[in-house]
Amino acid sequence: MPLIELRGITRWYRNGRVVINALSDIDLAVGKGEFVTIMGPSGSGKSTLLNIIGCLDRPSGGEYILDGMRVERLSDDKLSEIRNRYIGFVFQSFHLLPGLDAMGNAELPLIYRGVGAAERRRRVRQALEAVGLSDRIHHKPSELSGGEQQRVAIARALAQEPLLILADEPTGALDSKTGRTIMELFRKLNAERGITIIMVTHDRDMARYGHRIVKLLDGRIKEEELVG
Ligand code: ADP
Ligand code: ADP
Repeated sequence: MPLIELRGITRWYRNGRVVINALSDIDLAVGKGEFVTIMGPSGSGKSTLLNIIGCLDRPSGGEYILDGMRVERLSDDKLSEIRNRYIGFVFQSFHLLPGLDAMGNAELPLIYRGVGAAERRRRVRQALEAVGLSDRIHHKPSELSGGEQQRVAIARALAQEPLLILADEPTGALDSKTGRTIMELFRKLNAERGITIIMVTHDRDMARYGHRIVKLLDGRIKEEELVG
């Protein structure tokens, strides 16, 4: 059974009398432990698709099955519980709080979830170690390079022990050499821990770190390519 199964997913937005079809008839299955990248021009529906997979948005039609659960009909509370339990998010602009150090940023979602202090510290230290930032635990974002800030964001995702990491242009704000170190890190987390990764990127070199590239055009899957 795939971890993620989208069947005939559509998502439209209404803008006054105009209806925009952001996604049309998307069928996509992603297995546990897969590393899939999504490419496509601006406006092709990449973010909308990632938001639906991440339970941040709901489809207008179709079925979304995550780990055997039909999620598109669940309540908002249940969706947020699923996000907490399954999914770590990584963004282009890191989304770190400037006043908190690496540890403070990485433990924030665990505080919201009510995880106790000792367990939080344990998980966050482990996560910061996994991304190679053990010596930066008490640095604030302004004291870290872009690549280090993105690694803090990845540690924040890892500390939640997610089954799935969703990354939206995670290397978009980084130079290409630093971008490659982030992609090596994703590859390692995927290979060694079996974390499923779905990543949106504009950059073909970054996309090729995945096992499979899904290409969107005008809200539809135009092509899928296995990376050899
Ligand atoms: P439209 O703009 O096309 O009217 P909406 O974004 O208002 O569409 O909503 C489409 C469907 O998705 C509605 O059933 C709405 O309740 C649901 N929905 C949209 N965003 C969320 C969200 N963040 N959390 C829960 N449900 C949402
Ligand atoms: P991408 O991430 O590939 O750039 P998006 O998923 O952001 O594409 O957008 C797909 C389409 O849906 C675009 O035409 C975009 O303008 C439209 N769209 C996205 N979000 C909204 C929204 N909240 N309201 C109206 N239209 C939207």
